[in-house]
Amino acid sequence: MQASSVDEFDSTTYKTLLESTKAIPWKIDWASKQFSYIGPQIERLLGWPQASWKSVEDWAMRMHPDDRENIVNFCVERSLLGEDHEADYRAMTATGDYVWIRDVVHVIRLPDGSPEALVGFMFDISERKRTEQQLLEMQKKLEVLSYQDGLTGVANRRMFDSMLEAEWMEAKRSQQPLSLIMIDIDYFKQYNDYYGHLQGDEILKCVARLLNNACLRAKDFFARFGGEEFALILPETNESSAKKIAERCRNLIFKEQIPHAQSGVSQILTISMGIGTIVPTMHDERNTFLEMVDTLMYQAKNEGRNRIVQAQTRT
Ligand code: GH3
Ligand code: MG
Ligand code: MG
Repeated sequence: MQASSVDEFDSTTYKTLLESTKAIPWKIDWASKQFSYIGPQIERLLGWPQASWKSVEDWAMRMHPDDRENIVNFCVERSLLGEDHEADYRAMTATGDYVWIRDVVHVIRLPDGSPEALVGFMFDISERKRTEQQLLEMQKKLEVLSYQDGLTGVANRRMFDSMLEAEWMEAKRSQQPLSLIMIDIDYFKQYNDYYGHLQGDEILKCVARLLNNACLRAKDFFARFGGEEFALILPETNESSAKKIAERCRNLIFKEQIPHAQSGVSQILTISMGIGTIVPTMHDERNTFLEMVDTLMYQAKNEGRNRIVQAQTRT
């Protein structure tokens, strides 16, 4: 008996092999744009009977309308160039649902290079697409979380740093005044010691919510700077407007009348604030400005707390 060579696969074996794979084989004659073959597996995947795939029109019309034009144009363009290609699109099932397909296409060319036929495999990639989608959503959530303070839900220090950097550059460009308010709760250590850390956490959430409401304009930005310190970035805001906003912050906290039996300045919770306003020039440093405003906040502490200290206007 003669040993069979690997080249001696007969057409029946080829067919059996092709039709037993998950990938769906197909062939389209270029001149007539008719399917000369499509694997019977297509019916299992999309529900349309094998015999209903007659022309390239059937393929195009059973595609998601948002994908159709791009995909058809892309495939025609590549085929005319004689280039093998791949396309991902949503194929419509007989029940009107969509399945993500990756079509891998080989162009059979005539001697002059023009296409004679297209052959390819359709792969069901729905599972992969679902995973990709989940990963994207998780990435988005992580991105939000990485800029959000876990306790209070307001922006965190990281977000504050990038916002200050952006607004600083914008103020430098537009030569509009940029104001910054640093806020620190008075005698918060004593608050925790007396009422407990968990109650302290509740108060931080409450203060964050109240102060966040002091930002009335879309451009104003509020963040937890760290611990029981908060910060407000106020673009296009001069000294007098910034002072008004700081006073609004103090009033919002005052109106809440949060008991603080161990405060050294009052019977209720109070805050101290530093305000700086600057039209930055090329000689100014963002961090120097931030430190200056922080120093003003500490000055408010030294001068007795529950007060606002504002930088003197630069001449
Ligand atoms: P001062 O009036 O000088 O600001 O006094 P203070 O006690 O507030 O002093 P300081 O600002 O140095 O202390 C901050 C305290 O805030 C220390 C810490 O126990 C508390 N704190 C910081 N972060 C948290 C937090 O996430 N939860 C709670 N409950 N307390 C916090
Ligand atoms: Mg404090
Ligand atoms: Mg502090």
